Amino acid sequence: MANNQQHQNHPPPPLGSRIAIIGAGVSGLAAAKQLRHYEPVVFEASDCVGGVWKSCSYESTKLQSSRVDYEFADFPWPNRDDQSFPSYVEVLEYLESYGKHFDVLKFVKFNSKVVDLRFIGEPPTAADFGGERPGEYGSLLPGQQWHSFEFVVVCSGKYGDIPKIPVFPNHKGPETFKGQVLHSIDYCKLDKEAASQLLKGKKVAIVGFKKSAIDLALETRRATMYDACKDTTLDCSSLLGMGTLLCLLLSPMRRGISKFIESYLLWKLPLLKYGLKPDHPFEEDYASCQMAIIPENFFAEADKGKIVFKRALSKWWFYEGGIEFEDSTRLEADVVVLTTGYDGKKKLKAILPEPFRSLLELPSGLLPLYRGTIHPLIPNMAFLGHIESVANLHTSELRSIWLGRLVDNKFKLPSVEEMIEQTSKEMEIMRQSTRFFKRHCISTFSINHSDEICEEMGWNAWRKKNWLLEAFSPYSSQDYVENK
Ligand SMILES: Cc1cc2nc3c(=O)[nH]c(=O)nc-3n(C[C@H](O)[C@H](O)[C@H](O)COP(=O)(O)OP(=O)(O)OC[C@H]3O[C@@H](n4cnc5c(N)ncnc54)[C@H](O)[C@@H]3O)c2cc1C
Repeated sequence: MANNQQHQNHPPPPLGSRIAIIGAGVSGLAAAKQLRHYEPVVFEASDCVGGVWKSCSYESTKLQSSRVDYEFADFPWPNRDDQSFPSYVEVLEYLESYGKHFDVLKFVKFNSKVVDLRFIGEPPTAADFGGERPGEYGSLLPGQQWHSFEFVVVCSGKYGDIPKIPVFPNHKGPETFKGQVLHSIDYCKLDKEAASQLLKGKKVAIVGFKKSAIDLALETRRATMYDACKDTTLDCSSLLGMGTLLCLLLSPMRRGISKFIESYLLWKLPLLKYGLKPDHPFEEDYASCQMAIIPENFFAEADKGKIVFKRALSKWWFYEGGIEFEDSTRLEADVVVLTTGYDGKKKLKAILPEPFRSLLELPSGLLPLYRGTIHPLIPNMAFLGHIESVANLHTSELRSIWLGRLVDNKFKLPSVEEMIEQTSKEMEIMRQSTRFFKRHCISTFSINHSDEICEEMGWNAWRKKNWLLEAFSPYSSQDYVENK
């Protein structure tokens, strides 16, 4: 079921397609391109493509990698050799031009939020829709419509839409605080003027120390960051030379390499000075896709005293003047911004029907998705973008190519038992690699993952022109151009 409002610039795509795609971010666009011969309907809740690059970005948000590492295989960035990190606006432009180039924007129904999915065993008849059997489908609210499809690809994103808000003891939540509390997603909705009004001359506390928190602290330039869970941070210049080292993390020497990177970062960045050295090894952040790039001038602002850090040593809650910690110390604030992340699973579960909703997540908290895409027990449905890697665009694209060929019947899925066995193996690797395994990141076995996907769809997993390149040059999305 979708909530419909027409988009001004795009006529609605014709309905009656066999395939629906939910979401028009990186994953939805990649899926739409691979399935475009089916003329899919892409339901997009917002009024534009690009997903998080629109909804979770501040003025200062940039891609964390260079252009060549966030590039569709057959659609190079116009200025791909520019080594600078593109701004979120450039990423949005790149994604929009990808959609235009492959003529998939015509499939997108903007301002159309999918609010419910129902599985119908038998092919539906006209009587199943349009309110003729209201008892079965419930009555429709104004603007709501049912559509029928044979296959649904859920690309609703892991971030955005549903903020994760910490739970507080009674009478110690945001309602107690006299100042203003907001989640980073609400801050992203403010225009420049409103954001500056909110923060002007205020004491700002930012809860969190991941990418969103770091960017926001620099943007506000007068914040205290309350570090709820420290992660590894890299500075821009140090990351560039690190691709090869990251690959080596996969080797048996990975403990040693991890230690080496940790020592390098401690030498390069003032992490000890500010008490920001993570308690866990670097390899665990790598294994859970939690590394953040430190923007230029971040520590320079800290040196000037404009950004102050407070380490997470205890529980915290609100008091009327700010934040209070378990050891009774207090942090005064006028504005508290929670950069505490998003609940991607809640978003998925909100639209899935039972019994599939309960099947989606195992008791361990993991999503058992074969090739990061198909739930062995959920028929006629695929999920893209919910299991991450360090190269998310590439991973979503490769999985979309695989999905397109699966839907085209170019290969068959293995048995349910074999799929469960494979996903169990991968989940065990995640569990063993990091205590943050619930973040669903395949970075420690992403090369294997790509190889297996290639082999399953009948491609050569050795994508380079010769063994020298195979041995010594890193893989990129360009190595996965179709029919290579
Ligand atoms: C601040 C930030 C910075 C990031 N930086 C990087 C980076 O540097 N490098 C990197 O590799 N990754 C980065 N990521 C990860 C990023 O999530 C992925 O790279 C990628 O953009 C995810 O695309 P997606 O299409 O899977 O999801 P999204 O971008 O979240 O797109 C999902 C889309 O689905 C729509 N939608 C959701 N629910 C519904 C519904 N019920 N009905 C209809 N539409 C719906 C949403 O409106 C949205 O447009 C970053 C993420 C964030 C939040």
